[in-house]
Amino acid sequence: IYILGIESSCDDTSAAVICNGVVLSNVVANQEVHAKYGGVVPELASRAHQQNIVPVVQQALKEANIEKHQLHGIAFTRGPGLMGSLLVGTSFAKSLALGLKIPLLDVNHMQAHILAHFIKEEDSRIPPFPFICLTISGGHTQIVKVNNHFDMEILGETIDDAVGEAFDKSAKILGLPYPGGPLIDKYAQLGNPKAFKFTKPKVGDLDFSFSGLKTAILYFIQKQEKEQPNFIKENLYDICASIQYTIIEILMDKLKNAVKQTQITHIAIAGGVSANSEIRKRLKMAEQHWGWTSYIPKFEYTTDNAAMIAITGYLNFLNNTYADVSVTAQARLKVTE
Ligand code: ATP
Ligand code: FE
Repeated sequence: IYILGIESSCDDTSAAVICNGVVLSNVVANQEVHAKYGGVVPELASRAHQQNIVPVVQQALKEANIEKHQLHGIAFTRGPGLMGSLLVGTSFAKSLALGLKIPLLDVNHMQAHILAHFIKEEDSRIPPFPFICLTISGGHTQIVKVNNHFDMEILGETIDDAVGEAFDKSAKILGLPYPGGPLIDKYAQLGNPKAFKFTKPKVGDLDFSFSGLKTAILYFIQKQEKEQPNFIKENLYDICASIQYTIIEILMDKLKNAVKQTQITHIAIAGGVSANSEIRKRLKMAEQHWGWTSYIPKFEYTTDNAAMIAITGYLNFLNNTYADVSVTAQARLKVTE
């Protein structure tokens, strides 16, 4: 069964072809235009998707070495995301499915981040149900209990900023370019994580809060720069390591609470921030220290990609759950919907 996946929820245009759950191609076109604005500009994002979508889909088919009439279904991101961006992928997927007379498969982007764990790879570990997934991305921070492919429960989530935002906003305070998460990770590896101490927020046992941390970092930096003009420059690695350490401690504390409450020790991470080297390391350590079984996605399936959309579409296809042509893009969509 060949499924084409299309992802266009934010600022990456991506297309992937999978065959029976195995990825044949996964093409991602990053949009460079946003960097100089320090964040994603929605109007520019939808225009870039318009330009990218045809070549990206063609490239995905070419790399998979198949023709479009060999496809069995078209999967696309219905939401959540930027409306203008979602519309490009949704309209394209609808027309292609109609033209080829094959099933249209609508995908929830947040479920897809989690279901990327079901992509078949040579050395892949597939989590057994139920498992706990810590979804950490640019727009979400959630602890999800995954009962089945399409039966998920939110056990806890952020009450303000997402963890990806905490990384990106901290990076911005340090004068680093957008998106700063990967840069903090890179510099943190050269610094001392205990150099500076930031307090952890106090919120409900499985919920998160990151806006206070961001403000604390801002005030700390402003104060230090006043006293020592080159503070950031001279301490960049230590600052990054300390910020990252605090954020990852918060995440691990909540995961520990979730394990305690549910008695489930199969723990997965998903979303862009699951590319972070520290969270990956800590999850591996948890196997030895606490007897958890950890599920860590391959790098290319952490940040937005169409392979995760295609695998979710494939699971829908096996379930005979097809979308109608009347399906619409949804800017807001919960992982449980
Ligand atoms: P959502 O999926 O919630 O709609 P999104 O699709 O915009 O949001 P993703 O693409 O899943 O988000 O993740 C992007 C985020 O991941 C950015 O905030 C980015 O800084 C962060 N990120 C990527 N790599 C790393 C890393 N190595 N360390 C920390 N953060 C990272
Ligand atoms: Fe995402």
